[in-house]
Amino acid sequence: MLCTTCAGYRIRSGRGQCQGCANNTNSPSYRYCDQCSLIKGLCLSCGVQLGPPLAPNQKTRRMVKKSDPDNGGRAYLGVGEDLHITLDEDQSTGLYWTGKSWNQALVLWVDGGVFVPDPSNNQFGARTLIFRANRKGRTKLELRQVNQWNGAAGSQSWSITIMIK
Ligand SMILES: [Zn+2]
Ligand SMILES: [Zn+2]
Repeated sequence: MLCTTCAGYRIRSGRGQCQGCANNTNSPSYRYCDQCSLIKGLCLSCGVQLGPPLAPNQKTRRMVKKSDPDNGGRAYLGVGEDLHITLDEDQSTGLYWTGKSWNQALVLWVDGGVFVPDPSNNQFGARTLIFRANRKGRTKLELRQVNQWNGAAGSQSWSITIMIK
């Protein structure tokens, strides 16, 4: 989970070490791994308390997966469930996918993901961004492309309407 401040920052790629359990984090600038962030209810990056820690029996959650062809569609989630969005990237363009706009009271940004290369051609690959349903409601989540070298916007966008019940 990321707080709204940290969700606005570019996520550096690479790995760091979790202050909670010493496993890898998904970015050198993250203090916590996904699992510690989720269990302790802390922002991955700055460590601020975002919600109550999970009960010991609550370590798994249902997830809904979406990808490139689901652009413009809908996702149905229950409160506490995760949305995993996997989108293709081409390293030669310098463009990566990131969050643009959504109702941040209804949906929390859990992870910006890292570029995972295709084993047959590492120029191409995909990134999985993770969002969590926090409250009942409906919001349009928009993602955008940003150039990692100069911060310029890419031409593509991707969006989904999230219905939380
Ligand atoms: Zn950890
Ligand atoms: Zn934060």
